[in-house]
Amino acid sequence: MAQISLTFPDGNIRQFDAGVTPAQVAQAIAPSLAKAAISAMVDGQHWDLQWPIRSDARISINTMKDDGPALELIRHDLAHIMARAVQEIWPDVKVTIGPVRDYGWFYDFDRAEPFTPDDLGQIEAKMKQIINARDPVRTEIWSRADALAYYESRGEPYKVELVHKIPEGQDLRMYWHGDWQDLCRGPHFQHTGQVPADAFKLTHVAGAYWLGDSTRPMLQRIYGVAFKNRDDLKAHMTMLEEAAKRDHRKLGREMNLFHMQEEAPGQIFWHPNGWTIYTTLQDYMRRQQRRDGYVEVNTPQVVNRKLWEASGHWENYRENMFIVEVDEEGAREKVVNALKPMNCPCHVQIFNVGLKSYRDLPIRMAEFGSCARYEPSGALHGIMRVRGFTQDDAHIFCTLEQVESESRKFIEFLAKIYSDLGFDKWRVKLSTRPEKRVGSDEIWDKMEAALANACMAAGYPYELFPGEGAFYAPKLEFVLTDAIGRDWQCGTLQLDPNLPERLDASYIGEDGAKHRPFMLHRACLGSFERFIGILIENHAGKLPFWLAPRQVVVASIVSDADPFVEEVVTALTLAGVRAEADMRNEKINYKVREHSVGKVPVILAIGMKEVEERTVSVRRLGETRTETMTLEAIVAELSAAALPPDMR
Ligand SMILES: [Zn+2]
Ligand SMILES: [Zn+2]
Repeated sequence: MAQISLTFPDGNIRQFDAGVTPAQVAQAIAPSLAKAAISAMVDGQHWDLQWPIRSDARISINTMKDDGPALELIRHDLAHIMARAVQEIWPDVKVTIGPVRDYGWFYDFDRAEPFTPDDLGQIEAKMKQIINARDPVRTEIWSRADALAYYESRGEPYKVELVHKIPEGQDLRMYWHGDWQDLCRGPHFQHTGQVPADAFKLTHVAGAYWLGDSTRPMLQRIYGVAFKNRDDLKAHMTMLEEAAKRDHRKLGREMNLFHMQEEAPGQIFWHPNGWTIYTTLQDYMRRQQRRDGYVEVNTPQVVNRKLWEASGHWENYRENMFIVEVDEEGAREKVVNALKPMNCPCHVQIFNVGLKSYRDLPIRMAEFGSCARYEPSGALHGIMRVRGFTQDDAHIFCTLEQVESESRKFIEFLAKIYSDLGFDKWRVKLSTRPEKRVGSDEIWDKMEAALANACMAAGYPYELFPGEGAFYAPKLEFVLTDAIGRDWQCGTLQLDPNLPERLDASYIGEDGAKHRPFMLHRACLGSFERFIGILIENHAGKLPFWLAPRQVVVASIVSDADPFVEEVVTALTLAGVRAEADMRNEKINYKVREHSVGKVPVILAIGMKEVEERTVSVRRLGETRTETMTLEAIVAELSAAALPPDMR
């Protein structure tokens, strides 16, 4: 029999018969490893313990300690186990597909009656039985004819359609969990008992069209989440409850920040309160950029397709662009434009006006650039995932030698901003050269070293993501962790020798010859829209005082206090505080409750005692006790708190 060489993570190479399975390999190393094994990585591909290996490969054996593969198997096996449970309870339900997703999986079913919460409980109980039965998992390759015959005889029209969709020549793999069978690429565990029985939960049911096509039947999608142990599941459920309470769409209504409507999908109608947050944040960012040597520009929204063809967007990004056709006067055919999805090509146009010398570099060109990108309606999410947004965008034109110092400068810039905005936990990811790339290894070495050194010099060690860079250059990504432990990628720093080449940007070097500049595309917040969504959820609506759209409500207890209420509002307004009066003929407790829901950080109540003493009764959001302060003292305190962190 032919022999193959398998290379292990420690560099050891061993010979095996061609067709050996990872289960046999593990057994050959140590019976204890064979027992702990759950799957393998074979040349970087997640590999079932039962699949044969036919040629030389790099191999490592996965156990439950390997989080990535373990969670993938747990969630994927649970998708099968759930589908089996549903068909055991309701044999007439048709099965479709069930992929793994963040934290869990879903599976789409065709069933006439809707699944109820009681049904979900019943399914969960049945799933636990299946897990406890420790049913073996096995797999076989089938012919197309056998698969079609099987699913036709079982009355599973969706599976028949799926089999037809699999390209000729591609293996048709079947998996069995006990006697229950599904068409699946795998890999899977070896028996159902390897799935932790107490670390999953079915969360909800939603409608979903078959294959996402609104002309096809509406199916019922059951969602589940799963982890390695009960504690992780509990922590996740607590996080979900917290996240629901903080949902920016709910808080956006309660705080009257913005709305969206179907005439402008994925675009935001900012109300005065929301726009106050937006402009306060933008003013702050503008000051930071000025301080760091950026020049601010502004570029057109509607740009002829010729520029997008030159930049490569027309070829690679066309399906995400809003096209605007115009009957231009005198033109024989319609002029085709696109709303800009990115600002970069326009910034190169500004760079290209006039001759640039090496003495002009670096040029840090910033724009609060409004962009439009077509996103499918299913991907839209409140103000976090939209079609119209404004980036805190900038492009730094520089030499390769300047990349390191410019990158370091940006990391320090971003660190200060995140800290000012209340995010102390964040990390940097460095993505390096992919297999398919342009440019010499020598240039790649320099580019990667520049970004890596910049991180270390700024004092932020990076996590390495080999092979994840763009085809033309490496990049840094900055990921925030919010108050409830969720990660948000906001900042980016993408090095780019490619666009200056495509758009023919150049400068005159010290040697008197023409050179190409490098570009650094960089953003700190990402987009204002998404970042404000993150801020709202991170702070659960209780924004830092300087960002709160309504900072103070001065509320009368009796109408005789009205003149003093107006005096207090005026004093606060003149001191730079956003203050408003509430002199409605309502009980003070009613007013306090209403403004607390609106997340107003400070409410000042004024009755006759306060009028006589020229004091205010101060109630701060989230506290039940009140304190009495003089007018002068509260104005001094709040005017100081209203200052943005960089102006204190
Ligand atoms: Zn599967
Ligand atoms: Zn850019």
